[in-house]
Amino acid sequence: MRLSKYFLPLLKETPASAEIASHRYMLRAGMIKQHSAGIYSWLPFGYKVMKKIEQIVREEQNRAGCVEMLMPTIQPAELWRESDRYDDYGKEMLRITDRAGRELLYGPTNEEILTDVFRTFVRSYKELPQLLYHIQWKFRDEVRPRFGVMRGREFLMKDAYSFDINMDAAVVSYNKMFIAYLNTFARMGLKAVPMRADTGPIGGDLSHEFLILADTGESEVFCHADLVDMPAPGLDVDFDSDLQSLVDARTALYARTDEMHEQDVFEAEVPRAKRLSARGIEVGHIFCFGDKYSKAMGAKVMGPDGKEHFAQMGSYGVGVSRLVGGIIEASHDDAGIIWPKSVTPFGVGIINLRVGDDDCDRVCEDLYGKLKFAGVDPLYDDKPDRGGVKFSRMDLIGLPYQIVVGPRGIKDGVVEIKDRKSGERQNQSPEAAIAFITAQYADMSL
Ligand code: ATP
Ligand code: MG
Repeated sequence: MRLSKYFLPLLKETPASAEIASHRYMLRAGMIKQHSAGIYSWLPFGYKVMKKIEQIVREEQNRAGCVEMLMPTIQPAELWRESDRYDDYGKEMLRITDRAGRELLYGPTNEEILTDVFRTFVRSYKELPQLLYHIQWKFRDEVRPRFGVMRGREFLMKDAYSFDINMDAAVVSYNKMFIAYLNTFARMGLKAVPMRADTGPIGGDLSHEFLILADTGESEVFCHADLVDMPAPGLDVDFDSDLQSLVDARTALYARTDEMHEQDVFEAEVPRAKRLSARGIEVGHIFCFGDKYSKAMGAKVMGPDGKEHFAQMGSYGVGVSRLVGGIIEASHDDAGIIWPKSVTPFGVGIINLRVGDDDCDRVCEDLYGKLKFAGVDPLYDDKPDRGGVKFSRMDLIGLPYQIVVGPRGIKDGVVEIKDRKSGERQNQSPEAAIAFITAQYADMSL
């Protein structure tokens, strides 16, 4: 993409309303535009990042054996009356009436809809387990929408649902999602810590929240430091094998948010040197809640014993749009964003320091064409601005690598490669620069 042809409306001033770094940088880097409290347009640069995140989530759901579908954003109130949540959900739910006077709502979550699908089509334990997901917009009329996309009202969520014949089988499905989540967040360069959680209005008794540690997080967290250092299981995990020990290795270590924290238990279970108290951003939440919805809505299957059983269910959410902010919160400096390679909107920025100079233009065009061909999706700053403007702009938008092309370097046959994170610079021939950048992305599909 040529910057001169791209839609990237950058802001010079930091908007006063933005309290945290990710919100400030998302506004300054032209990623989002707010229309109303918690309601945003995703401008091209922000949308590209969200799509990358969505794709990683999708790949890891698929790898765990979860099957993608799409449910509507608008749901009938009747289904929520069946599950007895229509009144309980309160003012967070946006209620709508259509022209015929039918009550509808903009879905804040999809347990009812998928239970309705399940009870229509699934009859026998032989068709279980079922693990289904979608990536769809939700609406929750939050009391305090804030921090930009972190707590929006309209937001993108991946939500998965599992149906099993009994609780033991439901835990197997739960464990698959638990492990898939660790891999999902690790691929985004995040350390997401699974914390024992309350099940709240969804009900049931097995639940974990996944939090990334960041000073600006809304939750207070207390955990064993070893849990934070534990590597993700890795993409070669066999999801058909018994995952219990991988889960146990993590759940054995104390990890709670303020809602469930008990200081005396924390002190008894965790040696002083390993006690970590910090703040965190919730990026995922998984629940195993048994037959709460299947019972209320009559979702039964025939068991091997010839009797009917209510399906044992779980639900599993990831905050896809929240993650865009979460990743920035975890990876930025005073100059701007620092994108992890796996979610960066462009693989490399090319800075032409003298647009209009034949040599600079030629070298840049050549780099641009070849890097595009190599599949690393370059962003070429071909705008006629001063060097200082170009440098700070490229730092702000945070692409992992920059290639700086100027007349002086060209005389010596070199361009400069800058690593955005470390700040390291190296001079290379244009050909070597292409090979270097391409190699950095060899292990991932951009
Ligand atoms: P929170 O405690 O932050 O309000 P929640 O418990 O209501 O979240 P879930 O119902 O578990 O959230 O939803 C699954 C995921 O969706 C959350 O882990 C979070 O990442 C994301 N999410 C929830 N509410 C919002 C929101 N208002 N804006 C953006 N993302 C959200
Ligand atoms: Mg929660």
